[in-house]
Amino acid sequence: MGKVYLIGAGPGDPELLTVKAARILASADIVLHDALVTQEVLGLVSPQAQVIDVGKRCGQKLLTQDEINAYLIHASSVAGVVVRLKSGDPLIFGRAGEEIEALQSAGVEFEIVPGITSALAAAASARVSLTDRRFASQVLFTTAHRKGGAMALDWTRAITPGTTVVVYMPGAAYAGLGDALIESGLDPQTPCVIVSRAARKSQQMLWTEIASLRKLSGISAPALLIVGCVARSEAQTITAEVWKELQAAAVQGEQQTA
Ligand code: SAH
Repeated sequence: MGKVYLIGAGPGDPELLTVKAARILASADIVLHDALVTQEVLGLVSPQAQVIDVGKRCGQKLLTQDEINAYLIHASSVAGVVVRLKSGDPLIFGRAGEEIEALQSAGVEFEIVPGITSALAAAASARVSLTDRRFASQVLFTTAHRKGGAMALDWTRAITPGTTVVVYMPGAAYAGLGDALIESGLDPQTPCVIVSRAARKSQQMLWTEIASLRKLSGISAPALLIVGCVARSEAQTITAEVWKELQAAAVQGEQQTA
């Protein structure tokens, strides 16, 4: 029996993989990867390996999740090193839960190798500190992904002025997101940044405030949105007045959550 590795490929730059991930890729026999894994990262895979793209194309999965689970189990019976390679970290919006369950119930040996999730890569590119002991004490990783047509935004209740929110898979729904964030009680002037293709050569950043999210369109995928007091560009310098407001908001947020 072989072993299955669920590996985080990071945001795209092959230098942002762990040393362990690179070592296992170099000795892999079979690699199943998502569409977001870049060619540069795939360049680290052993030339002898069989490489299978199981990602989505135009919203259409090439393989269903059940087929991927079944294939991983089958592959572990015919190969020594089987890699399930996912963009970012496998445990963040990566359907790893279903794969872990399938591997466990089939009695297949497996290991998880973490990767740099795109929220952290985007924050680094934007030079945004996701927490800041002065006014941002918690971070929420969430998604605006649509399931069954409706946007699942029930997380807005968890937001306080001291929360940094990172929205994965914002799709084209920036208007709905902006409205929901304002309805959750955030100041319409709360800064935010959209980072598109973080840690890739074509990376782009758009700094704005949540009230202006409704005007946005045409942002290249993959992208994510970082919202909160910390998501301020260098140009949006913090004046003494803004400082006072931020700190008052943070104290108020702590009282709300206490
Ligand atoms: N497991 C991945 C997330 C997969 S969900 C991770 O940990 O990053 C796919 C979403 O991730 C995309 O819709 C986008 O919101 C985000 N994403 C992935 N790669 C990205 C990148 N290089 N730049 C910006 N966002 C990215």
